[in-house]
Amino acid sequence: MLSRALPRATTRQLSRPVNSSVSRPTFYTAERARRWYATEAEEKDLVIIGGGVAGYVAAIKAGQAGLSVSCIEKRGSLGGTCLNVGCIPSKSLLNNSHLYHQILHDTKNRGIEVGDVKLNLTQMMKAKETSVSGLTKGIEFLFKKNNVEYIKGTGAFADEHTVKVNLTEGGETSVRGKNILIATGSEATPFPGLTIDEEKVITSTGAIALKEVPKKMTVIGGGIIGLEMASVWSRLGSEVTVVEYLGQIGGPGMDAEIAKMSQKILTKQGIKFKLNTKVTSGDAGSDGVKISTEAAKGGKEETLDADVVLVAIGRRPYTAGLGIENIGIETDDKGRLVIDQEFRTKVPHIRVIGDCTFGPMLAHKAEEEAVAAIEFITKNYGHVNYNAIPSVMYTHPEVAWVGQNEQELKAQGIKYNVGSFPFSANSRAKTNLDTEGLVKFLADKETDRILGIHIVGPNAGEMIAEGVLALEYGASCEDVARTSHAHPTLAEAFKEAAMATYGKAIHY
Ligand SMILES: Cc1cc2nc3c(=O)[nH]c(=O)nc-3n(C[C@H](O)[C@H](O)[C@H](O)COP(=O)(O)OP(=O)(O)OC[C@H]3O[C@@H](n4cnc5c(N)ncnc54)[C@H](O)[C@@H]3O)c2cc1C
Repeated sequence: MLSRALPRATTRQLSRPVNSSVSRPTFYTAERARRWYATEAEEKDLVIIGGGVAGYVAAIKAGQAGLSVSCIEKRGSLGGTCLNVGCIPSKSLLNNSHLYHQILHDTKNRGIEVGDVKLNLTQMMKAKETSVSGLTKGIEFLFKKNNVEYIKGTGAFADEHTVKVNLTEGGETSVRGKNILIATGSEATPFPGLTIDEEKVITSTGAIALKEVPKKMTVIGGGIIGLEMASVWSRLGSEVTVVEYLGQIGGPGMDAEIAKMSQKILTKQGIKFKLNTKVTSGDAGSDGVKISTEAAKGGKEETLDADVVLVAIGRRPYTAGLGIENIGIETDDKGRLVIDQEFRTKVPHIRVIGDCTFGPMLAHKAEEEAVAAIEFITKNYGHVNYNAIPSVMYTHPEVAWVGQNEQELKAQGIKYNVGSFPFSANSRAKTNLDTEGLVKFLADKETDRILGIHIVGPNAGEMIAEGVLALEYGASCEDVARTSHAHPTLAEAFKEAAMATYGKAIHY
């Protein structure tokens, strides 16, 4: 069962199995009738628009289930935002910039003496491109392996069962689908008054492809993407200032205590923060970009100069040119395609998954939905637990969480226990000379059931997987604490934080 409440489509609630008859649109002209017969033979069980994480995973899963499936992608490579300009390239730069920074600043005390350390940004970008192209080509291979037809072009609805495709290499074609899946993803939200040129005024797409390290960089938005990019360029030598409207970094999902601790660590690394600050206007000239700010509640004004300004104020669903108006599919006030609990739009054989609909804009959320949507088509059931989708910020140290944070529990009046364990008391973190951060559990006061887990610390993004599993299976802190964790590992901090929540930690 899906466990989130979504607006329900008002008409035609029942999904049809793949082979059931579907209502055919009426064709009146001779030309249209010809097309009808020309394409009917090619009707697929499933046509997917968008080959990002949502679309490509759905395509593979559908192929595995024996459906005939076409996936239309306009980018020229599969993998969408995540593989081409998101998760993967950003993590490549985060990993290698961290290594560079560590070699510069954190080797002597480890007994490693290095000579002249130089940044070769062109090579760092090449390493990123190698990872990206290896992975995107890997998906093409998986398409072939699972009999998925890959159509390179831009898809738009001609009618409820037909998608017209403007082919990347010229010309057009149409594909008909018994079922259609929209997985067109999202795009960076622009900042009013600042024109993106991806050189001086950039989105994350420009931020993963800068040709030189800017002397000064202003980041508008202290959410995860903004902070990851701030980390990369700060480590490589840029003087970075992050301007955030809210009173905390990391977005509202991040636990306030963790956000504060993470901000302190990032500040120590050299990033400057201006919280509770609103950007009022920006002006890009030949000598850089000026940003005017004022206190969020009004008052104190300031101007910030930078060589490059990164606009990282969030992402919005992308449905431009899709022709949804041709078939009466609705969007909400945020541009998200409206679906019911089985991902169906008002037209029940057209489903929507990933960033272009409700829920967190995360690759693994898109992936879960892809599998569930195909299961709804082929088996009439599917499962996504929206309460157990982890979030990770890949700074150093990483921040990761799953479930509810303290401010959310307080707002709901839920009584809870809190327990934490610092990495400074964990043997492996001490051995690694990497002791910043802590693991924090939130559990129901009466039952000890885990409500949320929040980590700032080394390897938090890997460690949170255990928390997700615990939450998914309704574990208590005691369940986690009674599970043996190998020694010496960072994961022992996880176990000890669980112990501290219902009893006492051993090593602290
Ligand atoms: C810098 C950055 C870092 C990120 N890091 C992470 C991370 O570490 N972890 C994480 O979980 N998430 C991360 N994300 C978010 C993640 O990339 C998205 O949540 C994920 O890509 C959503 O997948 P999707 O398939 O819904 O959409 P997308 O990946 O956006 O894919 C949609 C695809 O549809 C195509 N398309 C659109 N319209 C049409 C059309 N009409 N015809 C044909 N094709 C079309 C697009 O070209 C695109 O390739 C990051 C995002 C960014 C920008």
